[in-house]
Amino acid sequence: MSNGACLFCRIVAGEIPAKVVRQDEETVAFRDINPQAPVHVLVVPRRHIASVNALAAADAALVGALFLAAREIAAAEGLADAGYRLVMNTGPDAGQSVDHIHLHVLGGRHLGWPPG
Ligand code: AMP
Repeated sequence: MSNGACLFCRIVAGEIPAKVVRQDEETVAFRDINPQAPVHVLVVPRRHIASVNALAAADAALVGALFLAAREIAAAEGLADAGYRLVMNTGPDAGQSVDHIHLHVLGGRHLGWPPG
């Protein structure tokens, strides 16, 4: 199921260009348009899911696929040893700005903690 009004559904459909770095049957990963680190990739499910709040038990394998894709991307980008951060912002307090779940893969510099 996709949502024609959703930015990331449109990227998945190829209607809006993006720098895709990896894709498989369930997921697509592309570079963030406004990178917050030397490596900043977003991993999204092809299927529209608005946020973590909308996940169902049946989505467990899909969530696993997002993380396994992120692990591969981190390795391919040379981040595995130095480290990287995986983030899924959820809702207004976390600053979620696109209502289609996306796992941020951030790395290539030291990342402070706690986040702002
Ligand atoms: P969040 O704020 O966690 O919802 O993350 C949304 C991310 O999507 C932000 O980091 C944006 O820079 C990124 N973004 C917005 N539009 C695009 C786009 N057209 N292509 C790639 N990344 C985008």
